[in-house]
Amino acid sequence: MTTNLVPDDYYRAARKLLPEMEGNMREIVEELLNKAESGEKTDNRLVEIITEDKNLRKKFRDALETGQEKTMGMEYSGLGGNVSSPDAQKYICPVPGHDFTRRIQKAGEDPGSCPTHNVALIPFEQKGGQ
Ligand SMILES: [Zn+2]
Repeated sequence: MTTNLVPDDYYRAARKLLPEMEGNMREIVEELLNKAESGEKTDNRLVEIITEDKNLRKKFRDALETGQEKTMGMEYSGLGGNVSSPDAQKYICPVPGHDFTRRIQKAGEDPGSCPTHNVALIPFEQKGGQ
């Protein structure tokens, strides 16, 4: 078993959060879910929209983790098919609202800094839970 999430996981989590969304957002997400049901791939867009909202982002992540093995936050692996090693760690820009992330492949490796803000990246969990 891997911890890779498939589009269905995102649809399921998004559906779960529908009651928590505000009218406008809920409409958009519902529409994307409907499209997904008719075969269109909308998971990227869903993740984008939901993670723009800090509050929802955390709940979305929790929803994704339900029924999954423990995953490293919101890592989305559907695009490149790049399977990360179990030791990989995710780092994120500490600046609020900026979601620049970088993975390191082994513990102790320097994650570097955000190219936009020029500040050292912090472990993803440290920011995500706030
Ligand atoms: Zn930044």
